[in-house]
Amino acid sequence: MDKKNEVILTIGHLKKSYGDTEVLKDIDLEIKSGEVVVIIGPSGCGKSTLLRCLNGLEKTDEGRILLHGEPVDPKSAGIFRMRERIGMVFQSYELFPHKTILKNITLAPLKVQKRKKEEAEAEALALLERIGLSAHRDKYPSQLSGGQKQRVAIARALIMHPELLLLDEITAALDPEMVREVLELVLSLAKEGRTMLIVTHEMAFAEAVADRVIFMDGGSIIEEGTAEQIFHYPKTERLQRFLESLKFD
Ligand code: ADP
Ligand code: MG
Repeated sequence: MDKKNEVILTIGHLKKSYGDTEVLKDIDLEIKSGEVVVIIGPSGCGKSTLLRCLNGLEKTDEGRILLHGEPVDPKSAGIFRMRERIGMVFQSYELFPHKTILKNITLAPLKVQKRKKEEAEAEALALLERIGLSAHRDKYPSQLSGGQKQRVAIARALIMHPELLLLDEITAALDPEMVREVLELVLSLAKEGRTMLIVTHEMAFAEAVADRVIFMDGGSIIEEGTAEQIFHYPKTERLQRFLESLKFD
């Protein structure tokens, strides 16, 4: 896939509150086809809320989210189709515990996209091959390690052929020895030119994968730039302080 430089997602003046707490304050952001954008920022600054809004899992208070010019609106009839086009992977995998690995992957293409069983299974098997889990197709999620489960969750998102993939701290619940296998899979997706918006605390990974890094704090985008600019030449005091605080983790 080549980078077409075409804007596929536009976020304009996005605002969101929970009660009196303003969690997202006037967020503006554009994502281009083939771009990998990483969001960093302290816990509680609104990263997950932003991703959930982009996937139509949260309703926004003000502003707009457009995918190829079409609104992402949880109240609209088109929201289910939008969720197919914008895939999301969570920290907690969210696999169906009572379904096999293969069925976890084929469920949505069969039920939601009404694809043919042979075709969906063939693609699921190819994805299992790619993530090195072919031998586990008939096992249940509880029989897999965290790293394996997260790779299945990624495969389950990929089979829907999303135009944009949202990854929310997908390695945060993993033991350190499993983080690498998941991040390597994400790096390979980036090399294929997939468009991704990634929230992570893995700063070395962020630097390796990102075309652009966004630093959020207190519900706002404080600074954005290349990985080199953000990690090595931070401009704002808030970003400098945040990067400094990571050294003591
Ligand atoms: P991050 O992902 O950056 O850690 P979140 O988006 O999860 O931050 O949360 C941003 C803020 O919104 C936090 O103060 C959090 O407590 C609050 N928040 C998140 N979800 C809810 C909710 N469902 N109800 C009330 N407050 C929430
Ligand atoms: Mg979060």
